[in-house]
Amino acid sequence: MRTTSRIAILGGGPVGMVTALLLARRGIAATLYDARPVDDLRRDRRLLALSRGSLQILGALLGAGTLPLAPIRRVHVSSRGHAGAAHLGSPAANPAGDAARDPDFGAKPVGATVWYADLVAALARAIDAEPRITAERPRRVLGLQQHPDCVRVTLDDGSEIACALAIDAEGGPDRHRSVGDAAPVRSHALLADLTLDGLAPGDAFERFTHEGPFALLPVPGGRQQMSMIWCLPSEIARARQQAPEEPLLREIAQTLGPRFHAPTAIGPRSVFPLRPTRVDRVCEHRLVHIGNSAQVLHPVAGQGFNLGLRDCVCLVDCLTDTPAGTDIRRTRDVAAALARYGATRRLDRAVVPALTGMLPQLFSSAPLPVAMARSAALGALDLLPDVRRAFARLLMFGVRV
Ligand SMILES: Cc1cc2nc3c(=O)[nH]c(=O)nc-3n(C[C@H](O)[C@H](O)[C@H](O)COP(=O)(O)OP(=O)(O)OC[C@H]3O[C@@H](n4cnc5c(N)ncnc54)[C@H](O)[C@@H]3O)c2cc1C
Repeated sequence: MRTTSRIAILGGGPVGMVTALLLARRGIAATLYDARPVDDLRRDRRLLALSRGSLQILGALLGAGTLPLAPIRRVHVSSRGHAGAAHLGSPAANPAGDAARDPDFGAKPVGATVWYADLVAALARAIDAEPRITAERPRRVLGLQQHPDCVRVTLDDGSEIACALAIDAEGGPDRHRSVGDAAPVRSHALLADLTLDGLAPGDAFERFTHEGPFALLPVPGGRQQMSMIWCLPSEIARARQQAPEEPLLREIAQTLGPRFHAPTAIGPRSVFPLRPTRVDRVCEHRLVHIGNSAQVLHPVAGQGFNLGLRDCVCLVDCLTDTPAGTDIRRTRDVAAALARYGATRRLDRAVVPALTGMLPQLFSSAPLPVAMARSAALGALDLLPDVRRAFARLLMFGVRV
């Protein structure tokens, strides 16, 4: 058995890699294990919407201009077949970027999109350049056991390591007892790029339908291209993944409604299973769950990674923000740091998943009173600046305690 005083990060997706880099910037060494090589992760076709808060974190970590981004300036939220729409972001008629005319966002983008693949590649390059981080890939974690003074991690090469603190960033909903436990996957996200005319640069769209939410996001470097994410009952998502192009484009045009130009082409399609989950206890002795290992969100509002990034920052702060730092060999120190972490993250981890879980259900309900209430809510969001700003702050920075 190898014994290490280092922190072991189990899972080297975006959340695991950001955590390793944040720790390294504070002088703390870590070893990161991931089951897959980086090239494998780079085949992922997900486009992530990053909030302004996330852009600040990644900018400080990777340097400005490192990530290929597409700014999101304005988000249009509407519901198919019902009145009422809300708009978040800079007013359309503010081309000079006058901050006084945009009290909500100071004429700055609401956020930006990045391909998961590009994010992973940039983080992996930063990790390669960081001597405090050892990355072992491909190296699958097979299991772990807690002991009073260490965590023993079993790896797929037959070796075992004993580390002082294990950070679980393996993602994926299947490994936890949680909300939706063992429930079959009932919905999938259908992803594809659409070619579409007549959109202002930086526009993003969220359209709720009875089948599920439909979103269009601007693509880095794409002029008339938008990335579609359409959350659907699983059997419909799979059927539309295989459907011929022409009828599918007609279906999409009907979903978007008459105010949009009809899409003229659709790129390769992929589907992702959707199963929101959440673990109740994020800290267990010398083990802590962060990112998707702690909670998997419905992608409706593009908040999963944004929430996971706030996990990373908070965890590293809790491990380092004491006068003497945390001596991770001492059980008492680890317990105190992880207790601070759990308490600080409680509200954000409760509110954001609850909100994103509620939206698809609310908008798929057909009864008239519900339809009237949601039209009124969209209208209120558009007309009441204080409500809109509070909602925008929540999406950009989460719940702060
Ligand atoms: C369709 C879709 C769209 C999304 N859009 C957005 C969005 O717009 N904005 C947003 O903020 N979020 C979005 N999300 C959520 C976002 O993708 C996740 O929150 C984010 O990827 C979580 O990162 P992670 O590192 O925690 O987990 P993952 O990205 O799942 O990475 C986990 C890593 O752990 C590794 N691993 C797994 N098991 C093991 C093991 N046993 N041993 C070693 N390694 C292991 C995997 O290989 C992987 O590299 C979206 C999700 C989906 C599905």
